[in-house]
Amino acid sequence: MVNNAIIAAFGLDAANFEIKRFGSGHINNTFLLSAIGDDKKYVLQKINTNVFKEPAVIATNQRLAAEYLAVHHPGYLFITPIQTVNREDLFVWEGDYWRLIPFINDSTSVDQADNTKQAYEAAKQFGKMARYLDGIDMRPFKPTIPNFHNLTLRYSAFQEAIPQAKEDRKAAAQDTIEEFLRHSNIAITYEQLKTDPAFKDRLMHHDTKINNVLLHKTTFEGLCVCDLDTLMPGKLISDLGDMVRTYVCPVSEEERDLTLIHVRNEYFEALMKGYLEEVGATLTEVERKHLFYAGKFMIYMQGIRFLTDYLNGDVYYPIKYPTHNFDRAKNQLTLLQQLIKKEPELQAIIDQCLAQKA
Ligand code: ADP
Ligand code: MG
Ligand code: MG
Repeated sequence: MVNNAIIAAFGLDAANFEIKRFGSGHINNTFLLSAIGDDKKYVLQKINTNVFKEPAVIATNQRLAAEYLAVHHPGYLFITPIQTVNREDLFVWEGDYWRLIPFINDSTSVDQADNTKQAYEAAKQFGKMARYLDGIDMRPFKPTIPNFHNLTLRYSAFQEAIPQAKEDRKAAAQDTIEEFLRHSNIAITYEQLKTDPAFKDRLMHHDTKINNVLLHKTTFEGLCVCDLDTLMPGKLISDLGDMVRTYVCPVSEEERDLTLIHVRNEYFEALMKGYLEEVGATLTEVERKHLFYAGKFMIYMQGIRFLTDYLNGDVYYPIKYPTHNFDRAKNQLTLLQQLIKKEPELQAIIDQCLAQKA
């Protein structure tokens, strides 16, 4: 996999490093290079080109953001790839794209939020990046995955999958399909929002799972965000919504016991507080009014994506058993219903966070 030529391209000698697989990310191949005899470390990653068709766009977006941040917010820790000896951000070897990233010392990451402090710290890091990037010229930035969070498109794909599905799958999923269709107002709201200029285009992270934040290994204070592959133009609801989707529930999207799925108000509050403390002052009126909507948006989109894939015969998400995608869709539907049920009290939490911010 990793070989000496790749390491040499970045001006390092492989003989000086111990190399091992690293992290629990599912997208890229990640390796840790630890210098023998001192504590210098690097993260070496092979970009997954099945997911990212244009690795150069990832590199350009990160480079542009890094340059802006270095000028406007010097001292902010923004992970920037180390260039090759030929001053390139990526090294291409046998058709694979590699990059080298400085290892953040004393860092760790967690795969799920185990306490509200972690949720708060993580949200604060994503909020801080959004705040610091607010005002950057968006024009040179391109999508690294086109239409990634385009709910209109995801909704059309869902609608198209229904008549085309095999009869047994369609019959099995009938109630779930109907329930997701009953919530189509979530897709309609997005349709209206996306053309509203006050619903800002922002440089968003687009993958705000908690393991994409580096925390201090002993204090668990937030250090910085990592995994910037999907740093691209988007909307606030993507980053905020995916935190709601993945931090508030005590179990993951893989859980099949639906009785375990519920919304923990204290985690909702912690992440809202952390995020809004940072980004709150930059919000437009229309963004402020759609903070609760963010969670619905991301859970709904993920739910119909799983269901669409089930109806299409599991062509996108890897599955471990035949109804895996159907189970994931039911999981997300349950989470959506639980969130909506609590709207008044969760909106009150948002209002309180906004008032504290102002
Ligand atoms: P993936 O895209 O596969 O999710 P990530 O970029 O998130 O890959 O890397 C996987 C894991 O490696 C992260 O969750 C984090 O724990 C760790 N990691 C990534 N970059 C760094 C870094 N610069 N310093 C320390 N740890 C890192
Ligand atoms: Mg990751
Ligand atoms: Mg990633």
